[in-house]
Formats: sequence, C-alpha cells, structure tokens
Amino acid sequence: MTQASASKTDLFLTEADQFSARNYKPLPVVLERGEGAWVWDVDGNRYLDMLSAYSALNQGHRHPAIVAAAEEQMSKLTLTSRAFHNDQMGPFVRDLCEATGYEKALPMNTGAEAVETAIKMVRKWGYQVKGVPEGKAEIIVCENNFHGRTTTIVGFSSEDQYREGFGPFTPGFVLVPYGDADAFEAAVSEHTVGFLVEPLQGEGGVIVPPEGYLSRTAEICRERRIAFMGDEIQTGLGRTGRLFCCEWEDVRPDVLIVGKALGGGIYPVSAAIADAEFMDVFQPGDHGSTFGGNPLGAAIGRASLRVILDEKLSERSDELGTWFMGRLRDIGSPHVEEVRGRGLMIGVVIKEASGTARPFCEALQARGILAKETHHQVIRFAPPLTIDQATLEDALVDIEAVLRG
Ligand SMILES: *Cc1c(COP(=O)(O)O)cnc(C)c1O
Repeated sequence: MTQASASKTDLFLTEADQFSARNYKPLPVVLERGEGAWVWDVDGNRYLDMLSAYSALNQGHRHPAIVAAAEEQMSKLTLTSRAFHNDQMGPFVRDLCEATGYEKALPMNTGAEAVETAIKMVRKWGYQVKGVPEGKAEIIVCENNFHGRTTTIVGFSSEDQYREGFGPFTPGFVLVPYGDADAFEAAVSEHTVGFLVEPLQGEGGVIVPPEGYLSRTAEICRERRIAFMGDEIQTGLGRTGRLFCCEWEDVRPDVLIVGKALGGGIYPVSAAIADAEFMDVFQPGDHGSTFGGNPLGAAIGRASLRVILDEKLSERSDELGTWFMGRLRDIGSPHVEEVRGRGLMIGVVIKEASGTARPFCEALQARGILAKETHHQVIRFAPPLTIDQATLEDALVDIEAVLRG
C-alpha cells in the first residue's frame, strides 16, 4: 500500500471513530463500490466479500434485477405508511406466502423487529388461543443465541457483553442449552407459549445442532401446543443449502422469521410469517411500523425473493458449500480444530493454542479476502450465493496460505 492511499483510508477510519459510537470493531478497510461477490475500497483495492453482510447479501452486491426493481419503484412511490394501502405490499406478502407455504406474512424492516413481532404474536396467541393466564407466558430460548439487539432480545441473551449495563430486562424467557432436546422438554411448563430457536447458530459461532434436535423439539412443541419460532434471518433464503435451514429436518416452524437477504442487500426488509391461527391475534392498533410494508421495501423484497428462487441459489449453496467445506478440510491446517457448517455458511474453528481468529482475518484481508471472526475462535466464510466455483477455487489459494502460515 502506498503512503497516499494509506492516508486516504486512515481519514475515513478517523472520521468514523471520532463522530460515531465505537460499538463495532471493523476490519480497517473502507469500501466504496461493490458488484456481485466483489467489493472495492477507497484506494481501488479489490476484495472478495466472504461475509456478505452477515448473509444479507445472498444475491450479491447490487444484483441487477433487484436494483432495477428498486429503481423502478423509486420512480413511482416509496412510502405510504400503513395508514393507506399501496400496490406493492399485497403482491409481496402473497409471494412470500407462496414461497414459504404459510397463510400470512407481516412485513417489518430489521430482523430484530421481526423477532419482536413474533414474540408479541406468540404471547398474545398464548393468552387468547392457548389460554395461558395473563402475564404468565413463557418463551423458551437457547443459550448462545443471537436474535438481535433490542432491550427485550438482549435480555434473554447468554452473552454477558450483550446485556451488561442495559438492564432491567423483560421477564418471561427461559434459557436452555442449545442442541439438547431433553433440556428443552424439561423446561416446558404449562405456561410455555413458544420456543424461539436458530436452526443453526450463526453469530454463536456457526453451530450446527445435533441431528434430530430440530425435529424432536418441533414434535414436543406440537404435543405440548407450543409455537415453534424459527429464526431464519441469517440461515434462511438459501444460505444453508435449503430455502430454509429447518428443511434439513423437515421441520415447518409455526412462526418463520426472515430478514437480511429478504432486502437483497439494498434495503432492510424482514417479516414474521405464520398461519392465520397465529397472525389473526393482531387487531388494528396492536402492532405496527412506519416503514414496514412500504412500497419500496415490498418491491425490493419481492425481487430479492424471486432472485433466490429463479437462480436456484439454495441448490447452488448446497453444491458449492459441500465442495468448499471439503476443500477447506483438505487443507489440513495445524491451526484448525474443525470446519463446520451447512451450504455456504461455514465456520473454520481456530485452535486456542494458535490464538484467536482475528489475526487470520487480518491476514486474509491483506490477500484480498474479507471475512470476519465470530466468537473469537471462528472464521466465518459466507460468500454471496451467486459466487462461482472458479472464484472460490482462486480464494482457496490465499485461504490455504493463511491457514498454513
Ligand atoms: C442478524 C440477525 C438478527 C437481527 O437482525 P437485525 O437486522 O440486525 O436486527 C436476528 N436473528 C438472527 C439469527 C440474525 O442473524
């Protein structure tokens, strides 16, 4: 890197540091352009994006079909609020229901809002339909979870840093170990209304639960009349080699929560999806969002979903992911404890004796590959699902050099 370019990057780093909160510790790279699986920094260096904005970019950067839908909608109408109808929301929720096989979908913006929507829906269902006494509803959640950053959601996190200094928290959540169906069953009470779970924990370190965990807990939910709430914000829309990760165990959640890639990397679009039994607990005025279901977001969401389906990105993720995971294992690096994941949601676990994952991510950045560590020891590889095998093949040369180094 030349002296001049170093100072250009530094200027942006300094500004962000001086004028914003320090709630992230990003890699020191300043991006200004993206296309497909590639991004360019302010100095013109090109990088392969192996994070995909935590799977919000499954369709790649600026997918032409999604950009075109956004531009077309921007030239017509962008926001109405839900005080009026718009001609984009109906087709969007219809498409979402058709693609997922549910009766209703409630569009929101960020993932955390969709999770909050699901929590409110299931609590109210618990009182009105299941008959749990007012104020007693319990939702079972898993240790090591990540469901977003609102005060209610961090209140049931098992991660100290997510909670510290932000209490007091919302009661009514019961934590159980992830991957242990017996522990889940033991935690069920007469007041249990819901089970909120990630079918594969992403932020928690790319943790694949033991086989049978999802189907077993779903069965217990059916028997005990508990709403199984699948948080597929990160795992959904093709990321794990299926349209939804719960399909790996033929589980159909009662409430399906989607976000991230539903916005095609352009705009925040999320949704809580369920049958009428659950969705119909909401009456006018019960819940809302100024931007939820807006015509721009709906047009983008619709196009984003269409790209996932039309380009068969789930199948692509399955094939490329299986192959790529095998190649990563074949490297046989002395620093690597395990390579795990599903589809193109892959975690490379660095041995404690070899330090943390962060220096490996920095070394990858120096070689033009952007990946981010999660939970100290794990390098997450989650490129756009539109990536091709040749590009991954090239990346493996650099990944191998870094993992062996
Ligand atoms: C990212 C994520 C969320 C939160 O989504 P935001 O859009 O950041 O609010 C919730 N659940 C899971 C599993 C996620 O990966």
